[in-house]
Amino acid sequence: MDVFAVPGLPEVRPGDDLAALVEERTDLRDDDVLVVASTVVSKAEGRLADLEDFPAGPRAREIADRLASISGDEKDPRFAQAVLEESTELLMEAPFLLTATKFGHIGVNAGIDRSNVGGDADLLLLPERPSESAARIRESLRADPGVVVTDTCGRPFRHGQRGVAIGWDGVPASRDWRGETDRDGHELAVTVESVVDELASAANLVTGEGDDGLPVAVVRDWEFGDHGGSENLYRDVDGDFVRQALRGWEFAGH
Ligand code: GDP
Ligand code: MN
Ligand code: MN
Repeated sequence: MDVFAVPGLPEVRPGDDLAALVEERTDLRDDDVLVVASTVVSKAEGRLADLEDFPAGPRAREIADRLASISGDEKDPRFAQAVLEESTELLMEAPFLLTATKFGHIGVNAGIDRSNVGGDADLLLLPERPSESAARIRESLRADPGVVVTDTCGRPFRHGQRGVAIGWDGVPASRDWRGETDRDGHELAVTVESVVDELASAANLVTGEGDDGLPVAVVRDWEFGDHGGSENLYRDVDGDFVRQALRGWEFAGH
């Protein structure tokens, strides 16, 4: 398997055709997976915003005041307002904002970025429905690769961030190993491998996080193999015990 970044992409602007920008710079094959950083999907879709678009309500002001007193830095309540408006559920409000987005992803600050925003906008919101974005990119390509849209996310229990899939099309989300056997002949009972996250992390190794200017990677010669697959990564609330535990949790400081 090979993972390489697509070179020479320009600063992406609202209305840009990402599929065309990529195909002008690299030859894609039907069995490739194209991995695209959400930052450029959002830019192409015009998901840029300004803080002044989000006049802060009382809840946002309360959250910002608390975050400011914890961190000792000033916090703009309009940013908290933007996070609230992008979210369906607030899971943690201190010491940082952890929310569920409308499309099911759970992340810090609803995935709103203030770096690599481009132009003079203050904020870059995540794509509204990243799997639909992936499908649109795929339809516009001449070749027929799978498409994965990623974001960089922190991880509970571990330091550091890594690429995760927030949308995908043309590639199953997971590879189901249940019913297959290990080397001792034991049947695997629980392993469902979230391959789109693994593809996202592999791509993130070559796209970087800073000023590399490499938002798109191609994964070549990787095979899903002869397995069952599933389409969903986001747990239902009913089956998500960590999410349920967070609902009853309260940050002890300030
Ligand atoms: P995120 O993980 O989707 O939030 O995106 P990052 O901010 O980590 O950026 C991922 C990669 O894309 C980095 O190499 C950035 O330098 C690059 N990048 C971000 N925006 C653009 C853009 O508009 N054009 C190009 N060519 N590169 C970009
Ligand atoms: Mn991001
Ligand atoms: Mn990133």
